Formats: sequence, C-alpha cells, structure tokens
Amino acid sequence: MSTVIDGKSLARTLRSRIKQAVSELQVEHNVVPGLAVVLVGEDPASQVYVRSKARQTVEVGMQSFEHRLSDNTSEGNLVQLVEELNQKMEVNGILVQLPLPGQINAERIINTISANKDVDGFHVENTGRLSIGADSLIPCTPAGCLMLLKHAVGDLSGQNAIILGRSNIVGKPVAQLLLQEHCTVTIAHSRTRDLPSICRQADIVIAAVGIPEMVKGDWIKPGATVIDVGINRITDESENGKLVGDVDHASVSEVAGAITPVPGGVGPMTIACLLQNTIIATCRQRQIKIPEAIS
Ligand code: NAD
Repeated sequence: MSTVIDGKSLARTLRSRIKQAVSELQVEHNVVPGLAVVLVGEDPASQVYVRSKARQTVEVGMQSFEHRLSDNTSEGNLVQLVEELNQKMEVNGILVQLPLPGQINAERIINTISANKDVDGFHVENTGRLSIGADSLIPCTPAGCLMLLKHAVGDLSGQNAIILGRSNIVGKPVAQLLLQEHCTVTIAHSRTRDLPSICRQADIVIAAVGIPEMVKGDWIKPGATVIDVGINRITDESENGKLVGDVDHASVSEVAGAITPVPGGVGPMTIACLLQNTIIATCRQRQIKIPEAIS
C-alpha cells in the first residue's frame, strides 16, 4: 500500500505560516493584504470555492472583498469592475472565478487584471515570466502540486515526470515548474498514443484530465509518486454526489509509493497557495521584503 500524501495537513501548516506572515506585515509595516474575489453567475461549485476562499482569507488575518455579479453581466461591466479593483490600494490580489458565462471572453478579463495583482497567475505576463524562469505569480494549483511533490519526494532532480493534461491553468504551468526542478518532463494529452505504457516509465505522475478514475494501477511504475489533480463529482444513483479524482485510487494505491487523496490532496493546497500569492503580491507592490515565514 502506498503512503497517502496529506494535503489537508500540509495546507494547514502553510496557512499557519501565512497567518504569521500577515501579522508580521501588520506589525512591522502597518499593511493588511487584501484579496478581491469576483464571482459572475450562480455556478454551485464556484459558489462553494468563493465562500471557502473568502473564509480562509479572513481566517489568516487578511481583508476579503467579495463581488457577486449576475449571470447576464456584460463583458464591459466586468472589465470596468476589474479596472476599478486594479486602482484600489487596499486590494492587493484580484481573482475572477472561472468559468465565466458565455458572453464574456475569459482571456480578456484575465489580461485586464494588473499582472502584479494576478494572484491566480493566469495573466499572459505571469505565464511568460514563469516560462523563462523569472519571478512571477505562479498559478495556485500547480504551486500546490509542487509543494506536495517536494514533501513526498524531496529533491526532484532527474526524475521522470509525466503530466496528463495540457491546460493553461494546470498541465502547462506544472510542466514549467517541474522543468525548473530539473525533472525530465513529458506532457500527455487527449491525442497521446498508448498512454499507459508512457505512464509506466514515470517516477512522478500528475493527473489533470477531468476524467473520473481514468488512471489505473497497471499504468503505474511500482513506487511512483502520484498527484491526482482531478475533481469529479459522480452523481449517478448509486454514488450520490461522491467526489473522485482522475486516478482510480483503489488500484493505484496498491502500486504507487505515494499518492494524494481526493478530496484532501491538491484541493486544500490550491487555496493556501492563493493566500500565499496574495502576500507575495502585496510585498512586491509595496516593495517590502517577503516575510521569512513564507519565503
Ligand atoms: P481541461 O479540461 O482544461 O484540460 C484537460 C486536459 O486533459 C486537456 O489538455 C486534454 O488534452 C487532456 N485530456 C483529455 N482527455 C484525455 C485523455 N483521454 N488522455 C490524456 N489526456 C486527456 O481541465 P483542467 O482545467 O486542466 O482540469 C483538469 C482536472 O483538474 C479537472 O478534473 C478539474 O476539476 C481539476 N482541477 C482541480 C483543481 C484543484 O484545485 N484541485 C484546480 C483546477 C482543476
């Protein structure tokens, strides 16, 4: 049986360091970081994420600003709100919850956020900076995956890693981060041929495809480390509302050396990394040294 990588516990530790950093900023610089979250529409999963983000922001001592807009908000009105938030001194981080309704071009909105307040790390400037290894705001889920991996494996140098999925928000940035850690990186996607045999060569498997329990135990090299990014709600009659990942946990945990659970793996790390990014953004905007608790 493999070791379970406890994302909940690691996220708790990170949040307590963040809380310490926030209090240091307040005492030494009279600064309270602020995070603005914008939700457009009524998507139930997005509402849960936004509530959770706001609650955890307040719990670590930061200011939370919530903006809820109706489903039929125009692109122009959302651009205007983001531009106003860009100007506000007390707002250090801006996150527009995705997905957005069809009438709004998400790329335009993301790139309207000031790059130095883009705590999701999706702005084209942050994406470009990440790809050349310059300082940037790193997307939260990929940053969380890297922390979980380092916790489980330690030095990643020379490891063969496969990333299943090539999205801009998970697959591609994870690949950049693992390259920076000196892994040999393969990115697989929906057109990849013979995925199981490529997977079997990997020391590290990161699954971010959005297909429930796709990765099976016989795809995994014995002892490999598996990070399951997927969040899929199975809603058939027998499995009412159960959350599962992209990895078939039962069969994979028989073979892998270590594996993240769903829920309780990558998910909690994503929000903790968002809070960390908000502190990093605040410090860069104010030209303050990033507190040691999180550096
Ligand atoms: P996406 O739909 O944007 O991308 C999916 C990727 O999977 C694509 O690149 C596609 O080529 C690839 N793919 C599809 N079918 C495949 C197949 N059969 N074999 C190999 N690759 C295949 O998804 P995303 O936004 O990157 O999210 C992926 C998963 O991660 C989803 O389940 C999502 O809910 C989850 N997610 C979790 C968190 C978190 O905080 N834990 C954050 C973001 C996304």
